[in-house]
Amino acid sequence: MANIDNAALFKISYGLFVVTSNDGTRDNGLIVNTVSQITDSPIRVAVAVNKKNYSHDVIRETKKMNVCCLSIDAPFSVFENFGFRSGRDADKFEGITPLRSENGLAVLGEFTSGFISLEVESYVDIDTHGMFICTVTEAKTLSDKESMTYTYYQENVKPKPEAKKAKGYVCKICGYVYEGDTLPDDFICPWCKHSASDFEKIQ
Ligand code: FE
Repeated sequence: MANIDNAALFKISYGLFVVTSNDGTRDNGLIVNTVSQITDSPIRVAVAVNKKNYSHDVIRETKKMNVCCLSIDAPFSVFENFGFRSGRDADKFEGITPLRSENGLAVLGEFTSGFISLEVESYVDIDTHGMFICTVTEAKTLSDKESMTYTYYQENVKPKPEAKKAKGYVCKICGYVYEGDTLPDDFICPWCKHSASDFEKIQ
């Protein structure tokens, strides 16, 4: 597209978060980078979630969620667990004993510097994603560790693709490797759900 330098979009800085919800059967969580406080009096927080994610449907139904702010000590396994598989078929809190916020939802106690409990006030349909505009019902600091940013994740947490694996395309977002000579235009990353435009050829 003319006059749109995708690299300029990467100049926007983002945090990384585990957003928890509960479908009535079990705790669920997903990784998003799309959390922002949009007003401060009263406080409103916006969270965008890809419609392909199970959490989107659960949050739309239950109208509540917790945002757990990841700190820089969060290992790649946290992203694999919460980000690269679906809560439809995996129990992401298996083996994890979460903290509980007042709204009853799970809070990831480890690798979380603070959490914010949200109640959905309105929903904006933005094609591929749903944007939840929320009020804050509780917020708590858990540690003074530095927050994980998207840049920090890219540079220090995400494993570097093995150079020797040579052939294929790598997802710039999560590191998933597509093995093949040609990446289909409509390819969707099975891990992070980003599209073919976020892949680059392994040289
Ligand atoms: Fe990906």
